[in-house]
Amino acid sequence: MDTKYIFVTGGVVSSLGKGIISASIGRLLQARGYKVTIQKFDPYINIDPGTLNPYEHGECYVTDDGFETDLDLGHYERFTGIHTTRNNSITTGRIYKTVIDRERKGDYLGKTIQVVPHITDEIKRRMLREDEKDEQLDFVITEVGGTIGDIESAPFMEAIRQLRWQLGRNAVCVHLTYVPYLKAADELKTKPTQHSVKELQSMGIQPDILVLRTERHLDDHMRMKVASFCNVDLECVVQSEDMPSIYEVPVNMQKQGLDAAILRKIGIPVGETPEMKAWHDFLDKQRNAKREVHIGLVGKYDLQDAYKSIRESLNLAGIYNDVKAKLHFVNSEEITEQNVAEKLEGLAGIVICPGFGTRGIEGKIIAAEYTRTHDIPTFGICLGMQMMVIEFARNVLGYKDANSREMDEKTPHNVIDIMEEQKSITQMGGTMRLGAYDCELKEGSRVYEAYGKENLIKERHRHRYEFNNAFKEEYEAKGMKCVGVNPAANLVEIVEIPEKRWYIGTQFHPEYSSSVLNPHPLFMSFVKECAQ
Ligand code: GLN
Repeated sequence: MDTKYIFVTGGVVSSLGKGIISASIGRLLQARGYKVTIQKFDPYINIDPGTLNPYEHGECYVTDDGFETDLDLGHYERFTGIHTTRNNSITTGRIYKTVIDRERKGDYLGKTIQVVPHITDEIKRRMLREDEKDEQLDFVITEVGGTIGDIESAPFMEAIRQLRWQLGRNAVCVHLTYVPYLKAADELKTKPTQHSVKELQSMGIQPDILVLRTERHLDDHMRMKVASFCNVDLECVVQSEDMPSIYEVPVNMQKQGLDAAILRKIGIPVGETPEMKAWHDFLDKQRNAKREVHIGLVGKYDLQDAYKSIRESLNLAGIYNDVKAKLHFVNSEEITEQNVAEKLEGLAGIVICPGFGTRGIEGKIIAAEYTRTHDIPTFGICLGMQMMVIEFARNVLGYKDANSREMDEKTPHNVIDIMEEQKSITQMGGTMRLGAYDCELKEGSRVYEAYGKENLIKERHRHRYEFNNAFKEEYEAKGMKCVGVNPAANLVEIVEIPEKRWYIGTQFHPEYSSSVLNPHPLFMSFVKECAQ
């Protein structure tokens, strides 16, 4: 079968959950046996979101091949279990950079370089995944960031228009819009949807399928109205009501026949509706997980999206442990020696979150000391692990001035040090130690057990600083063990204190590889201990 292309755009407002809809379509097509990938095109100029503050853009998600991407790729991976790559996350900046680099090389000698056709051609090339020629895919789902009508997304829309023309029935456009409910009038309003579709049509794109986001149920009359005003078949007007959990969305979309509508538009026989047993089993578990386990996220970003993958990994691990993980943000900037007991009161465990820079780190260190000395399950991730290591140096090894080189350039007790290869780096973008690296686990350790007695695992990284091996023996002698090491570079990737209930720090980010049908073993083990 030729590869088919599904384009997902959004209208009216942002934050409608295009990423969830794209991921759900991916999941539903997979359930029918198709090979799928999902990619995101973002209209901003940054080459990647790696240099963006989480306040701007939420979490930065990292792929196996070490690319810093949009957090929607996390949804794609969690829903579908696929591993995305650098070719699944494209920005306007990257498109322009490719074209401008080519121009400087002389590839277009004599020609004027223009948005149309040069930029749009490069967008099309990437939408068609021409750099992944060997890939055998049935479906490529392309989500375009932003909202219809944004000036900056116009070249992406033009590329979609041309591709639809070129690909004929092998391309389908799904447009997601919003149907607001006006309380005073007690009415749902479809006018913004009509305008949004008109805007798309004015760019030469007729959507095939409309997904209407709504807080209230839309009756058939409403759907009919939208269908007739927007030139869309009635069966292709699907509604996406607010769900108690995002993981209900694929099933809700299947019930309304979104996947069947896509197949029909393309001209593929629809066949039987797949039962998605594993997914339903998961949803049943989710509905039945009632007992709450309170877990603290100690970090500096008071924003849901900043620790998105950690939150989802904890939620998933909770569900598989038959409990509901109730997450509480604890602002590390506000934690002091005096109030730490009160701040962490009632929490069954804490995650010390990743991050950069000095803001809020002393609070993380105080929290790490409190949970270590009170034997409360603690999971340190990346900067969180580094703070556990510093706390141990200050309070157990007796080095009061212990710190990370990132925070203190001069301390003689730089228990966290800059990695050798990072010393000569001057450019910020895309230059950290990024992506999946091997890690050898020490037999008999807690993590070795958690990973099901695997000797060698692979996890994704995003950091410049690292445990300083000069102090390794002292740590081990005093009870903090280095139980995971990267064999090629001899870098410590995991520390644990075996005598504690659960006190583990990982230099890598396990949260990037937790999915709905495959929750991550470390989160599973951590939440299990918290639930005791
Ligand atoms: N700032 C730390 C480093 O660069 C930790 C990074 C992180 O938590 N992702 O090593």
